[in-house]
Amino acid sequence: MTFMLLGVSIVGLTLFSLLGVYLTLHFSILKRLRIFSKLVEQRRLSPQKAVRWPIKNKDELDNLALALNELMIEVEVRHRDLKFLAEHDPLTELGNRRLLMAQLDANMNRHQRHPDFVSTLLLLDLDEFKLLNDVGLEMAHSYAERLLLEITRPFEHSGSDFKIRASIGLTAVSAMLGKENVIRNADLAMYEAKRRGKGQAVVFKMALLDTVSRRMQLEQALQAALNDHQLEVWFQPIVNAISGEVVGMEALSRWSLDGEYISPNEFINIAEATGMIIILGRQVFDQLGSALQELRVKHRNLQCNINLSVRQFRDSDLITEITSCLNKYYLPASAIHLEMTESMVIEAETDILSMVKKLLEQGFKFHLDDFGTGHSSLDRLRSLPFDTLKIDRSFVTPLNTGDDVMVRNMINIGKELGMNIIAEGVETQVELDRLVDLGCCQIQGYYFAKPMPLSELKNWLHDNQHQVISMKSKQQA
Ligand code: C2E
Ligand code: CA
Ligand code: CA
Repeated sequence: MTFMLLGVSIVGLTLFSLLGVYLTLHFSILKRLRIFSKLVEQRRLSPQKAVRWPIKNKDELDNLALALNELMIEVEVRHRDLKFLAEHDPLTELGNRRLLMAQLDANMNRHQRHPDFVSTLLLLDLDEFKLLNDVGLEMAHSYAERLLLEITRPFEHSGSDFKIRASIGLTAVSAMLGKENVIRNADLAMYEAKRRGKGQAVVFKMALLDTVSRRMQLEQALQAALNDHQLEVWFQPIVNAISGEVVGMEALSRWSLDGEYISPNEFINIAEATGMIIILGRQVFDQLGSALQELRVKHRNLQCNINLSVRQFRDSDLITEITSCLNKYYLPASAIHLEMTESMVIEAETDILSMVKKLLEQGFKFHLDDFGTGHSSLDRLRSLPFDTLKIDRSFVTPLNTGDDVMVRNMINIGKELGMNIIAEGVETQVELDRLVDLGCCQIQGYYFAKPMPLSELKNWLHDNQHQVISMKSKQQA
């Protein structure tokens, strides 16, 4: 009996001690390891959620928990830094395209859940920087315009005054389109804003898709054509209708892309907007110089007009460009006349005037192209040093129906100011006769000759040098 009681007590005591050991292990180790395992699982399921291993006392496990928590905090900080770097521009710290995509995803989810939800994408380009904002389309437009005003406000930086212009493209955000298309539409609208002269906000319309994608295509093709020197210069003679003499010619750029003739009005515009006009102009000068050098062997005083753009005055050393062309081909300044349009003068008078003066000092002559189309005041005309006025075709054509009011007055103005006058776009006998009657005998137009490549021009000059006399002057003779 005693032994039995002793045995039971020993078993009881052993069980009790085992229970004690188990409970101690459970609370101080196993339970905490289970919490740790749960936290690890939780982190695996939602990595963006912060997890911390609870710390109770100061035993070995607490030490381990503390180290792990510190490691977690460090990983989170690094992760946040990396995410910021991936989604922001390092210079301006503004959100980048990746952040835009993430926000568009969120935005489109919201659209799917709430079809009435209205939002707009604004793509803004500080002529190289991109910014983003989203509001309703109508509101967005006026917002965009106010934004443009704010942006153009001059600011001071390192002691100098700066002024930045921007162009904005706006488009409605719709879940049906998908974010890539939404961005493309905003991009196209922004591109159109730039094409219209920058500093504007343009709302995307479907018609823009065709116009702008052709323009983008032409832009790339033009760059390639310039790299490969594929553009040609053609020449259109200018004839004195009384004496029959060729008084000069105009150099006109020609480009055909995969067999399609591209109008200079189209590609010159692109070249001007993109700055490619500098390279284009250089290539025109070079072809023109080489052609003149060759032609002047037989036609000693032949001269040629060249069309200039504002950017050639602003963004290149025009004087060096021209003089190096003259030196290369042994030509005098009188061999090249420079054409500027009236709208160029209006747009950039202060930018170009000093260079015009320097070129005048070197003996170059300036022709005022498209006279009458640019609404410049007569007073301004008088103050500018043009040698010749070119009357635009739009004023010549009405001569066919007896309407000579504009041409007559333009010729009078030109003569009053002591300028030569060339009439452009002369196609018919009626136009020619009336012009000669009114005292304008320098004629450029299909009536005498269309623009032609150098090889054809050589033959034309050979055949026509002394034969071109107007019917009127023949009759008078
Ligand atoms: P523009 O300087 O006014 O050149 C005259 C335009 O009238 C040329 O058009 C010429 O082909 C056209 N033309 C001449 N006679 C007649 C005619 O009797 N009837 C008709 N219907 N048209 C006539 P094109 O060659 O298409 O050039 C258009 C414009 O492109 C030029 O107008 C000029 O502003 C610009 N351009 C052409 N080549 C160059 C260039 O190398 N540099 C620059 N900056 N502009 C250029
Ligand atoms: Ca011209
Ligand atoms: Ca013209």
